Amino acid sequence: MNRKDHFLLTLPWAYIFFRLKYTKIQAIILAILCAYLTFLPDLDLVLGIKHRTITHSLLIVLLFFILYYLTKFFFFEVLALAFLFHIIEDSFTSMGIKLYPLNYRIRLGKTGYWINVASIISLLLFIWLALNY
Ligand SMILES: [Zn+2]
Repeated sequence: MNRKDHFLLTLPWAYIFFRLKYTKIQAIILAILCAYLTFLPDLDLVLGIKHRTITHSLLIVLLFFILYYLTKFFFFEVLALAFLFHIIEDSFTSMGIKLYPLNYRIRLGKTGYWINVASIISLLLFIWLALNY
């Protein structure tokens, strides 16, 4: 899945999550930051790490949530969600993801073709939520 689709798919869901705790403007800023950072797990392609393994692991999500719990530093919460949304979104692609290190392949979607349409719907949903929620 490309970076733009990850960004657009994450935006409304991150906004809903952050809106539970933060003001509307804070939630918009955190959702945009979170959506932007969803590219991070795919740095495995740049770093030469086997694709969709350790960087697409729920262990990293857990690590960032623990760091957030210990420090209460908002950035760890943003990172945890960015990785979590990325993993969920990749599970809808034809390649799916492995639940590293367990090696169970998770594939919720049969093809990746629906993603562009879903991205546009997600963007519209985010705009509607930001105006009304
Ligand atoms: Zn990925």
